[in-house]
Amino acid sequence: MRALVYSGPWQLDVLDRPVPTLSSPTDCLVRVMACGICGTDVGIVRDVYDASRPPVVLGHEATGVVVQTGAAVRSFHAGDRVVINPTFFCGTCRFCRTGRTNHCALKDGTEAGVSSDGTLAEYYVTSERFLHPLPPELSYEEGALTEPLGCVLTGVNQLIVRPAATCMVLGLGPVGLLYALALGMRGVRGTAIEPAADRGALAEKVLAPHGWVIRASVADATAEGGGDFDILVDTSGHFDASLLPFMAAGSQVLLVALRTRRAEIDLGLLADRSISLIGSIDSLGTFDDARSLLASGQIPAASLISHVVPLEDVPAALSLLGCDLRQKAYSPNAAALKVIVRVSAE
Ligand SMILES: [Zn+2]
Ligand SMILES: [Zn+2]
Repeated sequence: MRALVYSGPWQLDVLDRPVPTLSSPTDCLVRVMACGICGTDVGIVRDVYDASRPPVVLGHEATGVVVQTGAAVRSFHAGDRVVINPTFFCGTCRFCRTGRTNHCALKDGTEAGVSSDGTLAEYYVTSERFLHPLPPELSYEEGALTEPLGCVLTGVNQLIVRPAATCMVLGLGPVGLLYALALGMRGVRGTAIEPAADRGALAEKVLAPHGWVIRASVADATAEGGGDFDILVDTSGHFDASLLPFMAAGSQVLLVALRTRRAEIDLGLLADRSISLIGSIDSLGTFDDARSLLASGQIPAASLISHVVPLEDVPAALSLLGCDLRQKAYSPNAAALKVIVRVSAE
């Protein structure tokens, strides 16, 4: 089968790989139809997110069709359209038993598309525990937004969202957009910062009807007297101490960008102003909620997808996300929102 393999920094190729086989009676073989490209994939390729174990097949935001089921599979049959939850959890470690399955003790080495082979391949094997029916209202491409939205809802669930809270979102890639839309459903309005002009223009079409203001920089946003935000969501990895003066007392800073970085922060100021720093990764019990919000149109999946490309074109298409494999160079001038890979034809 064809698979997108990451073999080291800036090395990404479509290679031939054996079709995986069922290893347990509860496993299903899924023919992958569509899979989103995520900032995590770009971070892995740029070597700024070090959880990966190359060589590894990338991809963790996929939909597909069940083609084979193990003898003990009860919930799915060949031909069923499904969404894949890539966040493995064992169910028996102390984290799984205390409601923290996104931090399962077996996570290292089992993260699909990061430390174990993922879904940017024609076939993928997983337990039926990690499959969810794909609603008929959603195309394979739209359904691929379930995983990132599940992660976003997990982050939102960690916040205390007061009525009429104001928010600043840093970065308007798909995750930033989903945060603005998901918080908007809870009554939150605010300002989103996106320095890439092309991406900002695409995002504005999605967010302006929901009352969000889009600015190219924090300086632009705060020059007009803005500030006093109750919530800051950093999806871009650019949060630092310079933003604290714009945060209200009792505010919350949610950090979800996965890349290595350092910041020097006056911890006394956090205490004095009751400001919380909160991290969030992966989805925690939010997969079905995400699927429902997409199927009902409350989160407008189609409007977030700017490009659909075949698997063979992914190495070149990464340039839409600022990642130039040939030059081994990254620029923040992304010209895309969500890029979805059409892995298999209908
Ligand atoms: Zn992702
Ligand atoms: Zn576990």
